[in-house]
Amino acid sequence: MTKELYNLGEMPPLGVIPPKMHAWLIRPERFGKPMEAFQKEVVNTPAIADDEVLVYVMAAGINYNNVWAGLGIPIDVIGARNKAFARGEQGEPEPFHIGGSDASGIVYKVGKDVTNVKVGDEVVMHCGRYSRDCEWVKNGGDPMYSPTYRIWGYETNWGSFAQFTKVQAQQCMPKPKHMNWEEAAAYTLVAATAWRMLHGWGVNAVKKGDVALIWGGAGGLGSMAIQIAKAAGATPIAIVSGEDKFDYCMKLGAKGCINRNEFDHWGMLPHWKDNAGYAKWLKGVRAFGAKIWEVLGEKRAPNIIFEHPGETTIPTSIFVCDTGGMVVVCAGTTGYNATVDLRYLWMRQKRLQGSHFANTEQSNQMNQLAVRGLLDPCLSRAFPYTDIPHVHQLMYENKHPHGNMAVLVGATEFGQGASSKAPVAVEHPTLPKGDVHTTPRPYPLTAPLPTIAEGEAITLADDGTKVRDLMHRGIISCTPTDTVGTVAKIMVNKEIHAVVVMDERGKAIGVVSQTDMVLARQGRTPDEARSMRAQDVMTPGCATCDADMLLSEAVSLMTGRRMHRLVVTEKEQPVGVISMTDVVRKIIGE
Ligand code: NAP
Repeated sequence: MTKELYNLGEMPPLGVIPPKMHAWLIRPERFGKPMEAFQKEVVNTPAIADDEVLVYVMAAGINYNNVWAGLGIPIDVIGARNKAFARGEQGEPEPFHIGGSDASGIVYKVGKDVTNVKVGDEVVMHCGRYSRDCEWVKNGGDPMYSPTYRIWGYETNWGSFAQFTKVQAQQCMPKPKHMNWEEAAAYTLVAATAWRMLHGWGVNAVKKGDVALIWGGAGGLGSMAIQIAKAAGATPIAIVSGEDKFDYCMKLGAKGCINRNEFDHWGMLPHWKDNAGYAKWLKGVRAFGAKIWEVLGEKRAPNIIFEHPGETTIPTSIFVCDTGGMVVVCAGTTGYNATVDLRYLWMRQKRLQGSHFANTEQSNQMNQLAVRGLLDPCLSRAFPYTDIPHVHQLMYENKHPHGNMAVLVGATEFGQGASSKAPVAVEHPTLPKGDVHTTPRPYPLTAPLPTIAEGEAITLADDGTKVRDLMHRGIISCTPTDTVGTVAKIMVNKEIHAVVVMDERGKAIGVVSQTDMVLARQGRTPDEARSMRAQDVMTPGCATCDADMLLSEAVSLMTGRRMHRLVVTEKEQPVGVISMTDVVRKIIGE
């Protein structure tokens, strides 16, 4: 008779499914830091559908997504699934979440339509699920674009932090025989993501002879990207934050490395009118480009740039990318406002391409590289099953090592599960001792991303304050032909930061701000700058708002246009000014 529950590490006979299983569960009532959010429980072993497989988990890979699942932000993954289920849509009814989007294990049960795996097969799993009944998929569309697409173990329940996991058969791929269980559990999510980024984008896919610039070469994605680019016959150049990581990246196949801390031009682009700022940025980015040439040993620009830091690095990536090349991005770890100098994008016909995880075909292509021994899983640390909350807590506190981490689940010891020698002899690279993350933890994906036909109404976070409640009445203005000298005097005498430019009909046509004055001085003598006219230096198209506009909307206008003040109008006539200083006063309750 089948036992009700097996102890952890006590493997049930092949094909025997106990009714209950051990698992680490997240429940909404304990959303919070990983050490509190994850708790060990015993639950019913899930039933499988006809196209699904039940896998006995030997080891599970660790990803940041389940830190977010435990925190319950930016989405309550449990609530979202329960609501969808209640609406009769694709969802799940269980009031808990079993996370884990990477795993290695043994197939214990298959649904009646499954043909690609059988009971007893040793497998690794990719995390992309989708409905086989989706019209888009049935018509041959990329499942990544299917509305039914979900990340297993994050957007779906029954992930790998349990004795058994429920996956679709198409998620299963052969386990590389030379890898132990924890190594095999560690690489799929990051490697498949890197594969699609490098191989998934048509004419710009990486090819023999290309130069590939890889950000975060010692990180989870970057370490995979170096190896994938190298295997395609390209020349990878890795960027890291310290020379202690050079050796690691070189062993993975980088031709050379760059220490990003030798440069300081990072961040959003300076304004294109800011001659001095732009020139300084250009100097910085050119020096970075020259460094690429130096490590490459020839004056060539990278054809493909592997991006994920986002906001701080995109301007550089676009600039150094070759004519006709591609910057491919799968994350915005440092922020989402990627600034692009469009002149370089259109004149040199470069491509900025978004990419997200990978489809079944791409995951399998990647896995073949692993099976052939050409992809090191870059396992930096493995933990026992009991450490699942702890390892997520390390990530939450940014104290985890780079590379990929895994936990044992069914495997009783580290190092079990390899059944053959590696097909090719490669040196196992190790990260520098004591390596931990020094960069901020990733921003969460702002999910769900709104679509045009968004089901739920979007609620505005606003306390109802209007612009008229805080504005300063009265406009201090100048004419378009007043000189900068005159405008400067007005600013100094009235102790204000900006002067509105009014035409002869009393219409506000622009604003001269302190920033405009400073930019006017760049590259000119004081006399030349003083004799310029307001209309030459002003920011045209005066940004206005109505006195009855919500303060929150006015703030969005200012932050969106990177301005500090707006001219306030009543019946389209300028009557006052609202500034960021006024908003700050309100915040601190002055
Ligand atoms: P990781 O292991 O933490 O590596 C990220 C690397 O980025 C770090 O090693 C760091 O290397 C580098 N970095 C950090 N801050 C930087 C900055 N300001 N400028 C330049 N480089 C910086 O993370 P990962 O697993 O590679 O994942 C990277 C991002 O991709 C995360 O945001 C993750 O959520 C996302 N991701 C997306 C998908 C998808 O399908 N869309 C899949 C997997 C991961 P140095 O300090 O050495 O430079």
